[in-house]
Amino acid sequence: VVVQARAAIIALPPPLAGRLRYRPALPALRDQLTQRTPMGTITKVHCLYPTPFWRDAGYSGQVTNYHGVLGTVFDNSPADGAVGVLLGFIEGDVAREWGSRTREERRVAIVAELTDYFGAAAAHPTEYIEQSWADEEYSRGCYGSFMPPGVWTGFGPALRAPIGRLFWAGTETATEWSGYMDGALQSGERAAHESLAALGLQSGAM
Ligand SMILES: Cc1cc2nc3c(=O)[nH]c(=O)nc-3n(C[C@H](O)[C@H](O)[C@H](O)COP(=O)(O)OP(=O)(O)OC[C@H]3O[C@@H](n4cnc5c(N)ncnc54)[C@H](O)[C@@H]3O)c2cc1C
Repeated sequence: VVVQARAAIIALPPPLAGRLRYRPALPALRDQLTQRTPMGTITKVHCLYPTPFWRDAGYSGQVTNYHGVLGTVFDNSPADGAVGVLLGFIEGDVAREWGSRTREERRVAIVAELTDYFGAAAAHPTEYIEQSWADEEYSRGCYGSFMPPGVWTGFGPALRAPIGRLFWAGTETATEWSGYMDGALQSGERAAHESLAALGLQSGAM
């Protein structure tokens, strides 16, 4: 499919934007920025239970453990408590280490941690669901891409600067809540205003 347009907004994390093919090729600073902003390594896990039983014991369901398989745990049950859902994240080095193990090994280790935190009722989830975001072809990691030391100071000006009629959106380009949904929305509005202004259709002021 060939689509012709007067302007384009690329709303991808920089490392994924760098995988697109541009003609003419992008300026060096922009391309090298995309070479230096990796996605984080996160596996997201959900354990389902008949009820959010931990609430009865007065627990929030929230845990932070720098030494666990799950770095963080949250109560992700619906507000009415119709089903119990504990959500956890395996993060960074731990996600890479446990990513080389089997799903069953991860399930056993994670259920053991939840049982340690919340008691025997956590030992038998009705479902165990996991997603390695680094394995997802069109994400290749999360929660977003980040800048290792030296990238912002060396390549930062290329993050948002339009190139001809190409404009850059995506949460990584946000000036507030970068890496979050709110940042994605802010960046989309900014890029829309920029492109409209460039086409002479509307002020770029926000
Ligand atoms: C597991 C997880 C938990 C998160 N938790 C939170 C949270 O609690 N709160 C919060 O605010 N944020 C959270 N985030 C971050 C939030 O999801 C992102 O900040 C937000 O989705 C970024 O939006 P975006 O539009 O910039 O990019 P994305 O949502 O990444 O959108 C980019 C889109 O481009 C598509 N795409 C990729 N390559 C191509 C291609 N070549 N051609 C066409 N399309 C392509 C992708 O499929 C995707 O749909 C979480 C993210 C993850 C993965």
